[in-house]
Amino acid sequence: MSPSLRIGIVGAGTAGSAAAILLCRAGHQVTLLECVAVPRPVGAGITLQPTGQLALERLGLREDVASRGAVIDRLVCRRRDGKVLVDLPYGDIGPDLQGIGIHRGVLFETLFGAAMAAGATIHCGVKIVRSERAGPARLLLDDTGTTHGPFDLVIVADGATCELHAEATSVRATPYPWGALWLVVDDMGFAAERTLHQTVDRASHMIGFLPTGMAPGRDVPVVSMFWSLRADRLDAWRAAGLSKWRDEVLALDPRAEPILDTLDDLEPVLFSRYRDVVMYPWHGDRIVFLGDAAHAMSPQLGQGANLALVDAVVLADAMATHPADLPRALATYSASRKRHLAFYQFATRALTPMFQSDSRILAWLRDRIFPHSSWFHYLRRRMVRTMVGADRGLVRAPFALTRALGSGLGV
Ligand SMILES: Cc1cc2nc3c(=O)[nH]c(=O)nc-3n(C[C@H](O)[C@H](O)[C@H](O)COP(=O)(O)OP(=O)(O)OC[C@H]3O[C@@H](n4cnc5c(N)ncnc54)[C@H](O)[C@@H]3O)c2cc1C
Repeated sequence: MSPSLRIGIVGAGTAGSAAAILLCRAGHQVTLLECVAVPRPVGAGITLQPTGQLALERLGLREDVASRGAVIDRLVCRRRDGKVLVDLPYGDIGPDLQGIGIHRGVLFETLFGAAMAAGATIHCGVKIVRSERAGPARLLLDDTGTTHGPFDLVIVADGATCELHAEATSVRATPYPWGALWLVVDDMGFAAERTLHQTVDRASHMIGFLPTGMAPGRDVPVVSMFWSLRADRLDAWRAAGLSKWRDEVLALDPRAEPILDTLDDLEPVLFSRYRDVVMYPWHGDRIVFLGDAAHAMSPQLGQGANLALVDAVVLADAMATHPADLPRALATYSASRKRHLAFYQFATRALTPMFQSDSRILAWLRDRIFPHSSWFHYLRRRMVRTMVGADRGLVRAPFALTRALGSGLGV
């Protein structure tokens, strides 16, 4: 029988709730501390990749989430003139593989509900700002000065704007200059195409349409439209108003027309800015970082939530493998995640400026290289492998995409 640890988790998002479920089930006493007073299912569409689906299967939640999502068979990215830059069918590397477009709120609702059901103690409206050692344990301090704990282990899963980076051995967190506008409306035929569509013009303009399944509280399928925008142009975009934006969007992709027709003003359009967090190792003394707090990146490759889910599974597995040796379990976690995360951070950093920047040279290169890469079966398969979340670099075997999860997600 492994010892039951007192575990404090900061943040009840994707990584925090997933970790809470697994660690409660392993017999630990889990306290989840969330800064939002009444957590609600918010956000827009995300793609649940096959890796994230496997992690959800381990949590016993895959069907719950998938049944509310939209099947995605391929990613197609075109230029404004209609020329296809990439067409990446999931089926290229496995007949049963697919992405699932889901509303971020559906994932939140499912994980948060399951964490409660698993027996986690949940305190909402608690903003953790610091952690400190207290003898052999750790305390967490919130912004009112209240102390929480002691905990044998603190799991930091408070997202990209993490408050506890000071506790990491080595970390660099920088905001990306670019982000995206998001709009979620009732679906108008996108779901039937089972495709994540993107259209680009140079690297400075990009629009995308992600079928998103059922949003929380809505009984019809929705679609998420995203529009790339540099963060320092947000005020100018707002000041220019809806009709100027509408002209710009329709010039890039007329499929946006029925979506834009639902708008009377810009109020429902949300802006999200990305951050880049680089850290190693992802653990310290009785503390471990998961999800965006550990490795936030631009959503160009659509991996963030998937990586966060895999983090939670790998941590739970490492703790189960070394039940009486927490330092070893945490070191195993960091070592197990290294190749997989290093690859996605590298690939995301390399690709994002080709799709979100003011560089004409990178856009020119992209337009020359990408269409040819699809002609070569090997290259296209590699690109699909990257998209599904299974890549670990050129020379390493991909993460085995098997449904037999008994051996864990050894990535
Ligand atoms: C525009 C956009 C599009 C994206 N598209 C995709 C996609 O297609 N596919 C994909 O996989 N991912 C995508 N992502 C990324 C994905 O949403 C995140 O990577 C994922 O949710 C990370 O999970 P997390 O648990 O680390 O953080 P989060 O889900 O952000 O959860 C962090 C939680 O911590 C809480 N919190 C924050 N600070 C504190 C504090 N001080 N104290 C207590 N609680 C705190 C927050 O309220 C939140 O509940 C996208 C992200 C953005 C912004």
